[in-house]
Amino acid sequence: MKFIDLEFQQKRIQDKIESNIKTVLDHGQYIMGPEIAALENTLNQYIGSKHAISCSSGTDALFLSLLAYNIVPGDAIITTPFTFIATAEVISLLGATPVFVDIDPKTFNIDPDQITKKIIEIKATRNDIMVRGIIAVDLFGLPADYDRINAIAKEHNLFVIEDAAQSFGAVYKGKKACSLGDVGCASFFPAKPLGCYGDGGMCFTDNPVLAEKIGSLRVHGKGGHKYDNIRIGSNSRLDTIQAAILLAKFEIFPEEITLRQQVASRYQKKLSNHPALITPYIPDRSMSIWAQYSILAKNEVHRKDCMSKLKNHGIPTAVYYPKPLHLQGAFEYLQYREGELPVSENIAKRIFSLPMHPYLTEEEQEDIIKVLSAC
Ligand SMILES: *Cc1c(COP(=O)(O)O)cnc(C)c1O
Repeated sequence: MKFIDLEFQQKRIQDKIESNIKTVLDHGQYIMGPEIAALENTLNQYIGSKHAISCSSGTDALFLSLLAYNIVPGDAIITTPFTFIATAEVISLLGATPVFVDIDPKTFNIDPDQITKKIIEIKATRNDIMVRGIIAVDLFGLPADYDRINAIAKEHNLFVIEDAAQSFGAVYKGKKACSLGDVGCASFFPAKPLGCYGDGGMCFTDNPVLAEKIGSLRVHGKGGHKYDNIRIGSNSRLDTIQAAILLAKFEIFPEEITLRQQVASRYQKKLSNHPALITPYIPDRSMSIWAQYSILAKNEVHRKDCMSKLKNHGIPTAVYYPKPLHLQGAFEYLQYREGELPVSENIAKRIFSLPMHPYLTEEEQEDIIKVLSAC
């Protein structure tokens, strides 16, 4: 059994993928070929945003967004500690300060009440940093609570970046993930809900000034033409070949969303009555895209036991994330202490993820559920 099965999907659309790649090999425009604009237009329409700017990874999408907001040392960005390192790493790379606030124990997403509390605390006690924005993460494919996050941001004159690396295809109150903040950042890393065969990412925004800046920043801060450089940027373009692959994969993406919902609801139905495991909570306002199906064990020992029982039956699992960012060595300089963000720390000790992909069969799920019934 596979944790995420990319092979089955590839076999389904092999001809389309090969012909799209061959088209790129034939026209030879490996950098910014016609497939780039085609993909940007297609996904922009799908998300319902005004501008889409492809780039070389989800990390770069976040980085370019912060660059476009002119983030500099002395600026602080509020974010969640319960996420992949990339979310906060980009803040530190610019010399700014990541400020971690705790998560909601049910959704595992950033807790809006904690954001407000932290903004007030920083205003009252710190004159060395100024909060400029919020990066919210749609963890495991479930959008954070943007109505509340955007209201807080508006009140305090902050921007909101949506880290939608795991949530492309998800929905919040009728709106698509990637369109929920001022700028949405998608990742096309192979294992994400919509993945290419390498690295890739995209920024979505309704703000034309931001879109122009991000478009410039991804090509060395270009102005009117390639050798007119008006700002310090980077080389952050998406490869034409990856865009061609994504165009092929996107054709079956709507169908895969339906399949993901079916797989997840089978898990939800069969596991929700488990006496010792807690299944994911999805608020009525949202549809998760189920980048991961993550459940909670009673404690660290119980988790280890469940995972090893599954492993003995050839069923792979994973832990996202075993260590919250505020306790990572990379952020030691920020001097957080253990116990400071108790919800994240508790969840990190108990969470683990089951195999999840559109092509997981009912039989495979029955096997998983059977093993888990003995946990
Ligand atoms: C994967 C991921 C990223 C980074 O995306 P890459 O394309 O791998 O650079 C950022 N944030 C979150 C939450 C992710 O899961």
